[in-house]
Amino acid sequence: MNLAKFPRVHLAHLPTPLEPLLRLSEMLGGPEIWIKRDDCTGLSTGGNKTRKLEFLMAEAQAQGADIVLTVGATQSNHARQTAAAAAKLGMDCHILLEDRTGFNHENYRYNGNVLLDVLHGASIEHRGPDLDMHAEMETVAETMRASGRNAYTIPGGGSNPTGALGYVNCVLEMMGQFVDMGLDVDHIVHATGSSGTQAGLITGLCAMNAGIPLLGIGVRAPQEKQEENVFNLAVKTAEKLGCPGVVKRADVVANCDYVGPGYGFPGEDTLEAIDIFARTEAILLDPVYSAKGAAGLIDLIRKGHFKAGEKIVFLHTGGAIGLTAYTHDFDVAARA
Ligand SMILES: *Cc1c(COP(=O)(O)O)cnc(C)c1O
Repeated sequence: MNLAKFPRVHLAHLPTPLEPLLRLSEMLGGPEIWIKRDDCTGLSTGGNKTRKLEFLMAEAQAQGADIVLTVGATQSNHARQTAAAAAKLGMDCHILLEDRTGFNHENYRYNGNVLLDVLHGASIEHRGPDLDMHAEMETVAETMRASGRNAYTIPGGGSNPTGALGYVNCVLEMMGQFVDMGLDVDHIVHATGSSGTQAGLITGLCAMNAGIPLLGIGVRAPQEKQEENVFNLAVKTAEKLGCPGVVKRADVVANCDYVGPGYGFPGEDTLEAIDIFARTEAILLDPVYSAKGAAGLIDLIRKGHFKAGEKIVFLHTGGAIGLTAYTHDFDVAARA
């Protein structure tokens, strides 16, 4: 595989840090936990979509796009990073936001990612739940094209083979860090949603024959569907990379036991994970993705699935700006 043959714009601060979580490891009393700080990619409070956008926005530029469109839930980190990338590259950005939670809290509707979407100058439309958001976006894009705009559409989460290249690149980066630090990693764990992160990671790991198992902790779909989505995208990503067939179905593993009440609804264990990371490591997780991933990590350590002597890398995919949209979950008035 040769990633350098794909157009890329530099948007992220790379490499992101790889650090030991000493206090958390001690508290949980199991494996050595490390963190890969993709919450520190730098673009408008960072997060995992920035790596994908390096390849997606380069493709948009190569096609002469003057406007990018994308879709996401109201508090979409992907939409916010897309709005930021477009601003930085001098393109317009139009976002279709789907109301998946029905939350009416002022902070949920206008703070967090939505505030940043607006600050970056994106135009926003809203949609109710249960629509085909990609079809909605293509209809809007067609109208724009008919009026002379060159519109480039990005699927939810930036999860297509082009976006997934960003996480193939992350594997190259991590493998270099592991060698430099003499870190023999037993497992990589992260939150998985629209699948591009896990698909890119597993494609890179398989293409390098790294032999490091990857575990995605689901935030929405049931396990079978999540694994299927990741696998299908990994197959296409491997083809794009020129190494068809490197990813086997059995390489794709998701645990969807930590979705809790549903997408965008944190469970008790989600909120506990936010507290634990904030108090032991001063690391901020988000209630929709990274804290569900961390809740899975914590529970699997408590259950002895990950054991003392093993080395685990938790990939922090970002999203902490979303905390400001969820103040209602933290009883702030009583505690402040
Ligand atoms: C989008 C997102 C994820 C999930 O990544 P996918 O590539 O969509 O699976 C995880 N964490 C955060 C903070 C995200 O914004």
